[in-house]
Amino acid sequence: MARYTGPVCRLCRRDGLKLFLKGNRCDTPKCAIERRENPPGMHQSRRGKLTDYGTHLREKQKVKHYYGVLERQFRKYFQQAVKGKGNTGDALMVLLERRLDNVVHRLGFGQSRAQARQMIRHGHITVNGGRVDIPSYQVRAGDVIRVKNRAKSLDLVRGAMSESARDIPDFLSRGDSQIPEGVVGRLPAADDVSIPVQTQLIVELCSR
Ligand code: SF4
Repeated sequence: MARYTGPVCRLCRRDGLKLFLKGNRCDTPKCAIERRENPPGMHQSRRGKLTDYGTHLREKQKVKHYYGVLERQFRKYFQQAVKGKGNTGDALMVLLERRLDNVVHRLGFGQSRAQARQMIRHGHITVNGGRVDIPSYQVRAGDVIRVKNRAKSLDLVRGAMSESARDIPDFLSRGDSQIPEGVVGRLPAADDVSIPVQTQLIVELCSR
């Protein structure tokens, strides 16, 4: 499946939920979901009730859009979660939450996951002192995520941080040194996921 490249607000409309895909605009009254009483879309009210399959699929699409992962990658995470111990749905969300692009965004270094992904690919971020340019890198407890000490990287991240007012989740902490850095205090848990997801529906769909 090709990556969706249309206006991001349309994805929120499709999923009927704020997916926070547009950086800081999502936290303002300009958000397309906040501006309307009904979900955005001219014909929303005319849409029929979702089928059982549609309900399951919507839950999966919501998570894919939120983390910006494609179907193949999502399947890999699911297979990994199945092989792990414990609840498969929770394990799936933890794997997604451990992605470096998610962590960079949740630390406030990137206004959106898409921006965080681009920062990582362009070499603006280091992990434990080494350059990591793979957005799907899985962080571990104790990892130190730091912005590269060069003017371009610092300007970019400081710009994003100055406009970011989101809370940092409990599993991360941000240092107060001159160079923006964050520490992964512990591995994330399912409770650290910031969107409501019915993971059981995803597990049922992917297990079919
Ligand atoms: Fe979704 Fe609102 Fe952000 Fe648009 S502005 S991407 S509708 S949360």
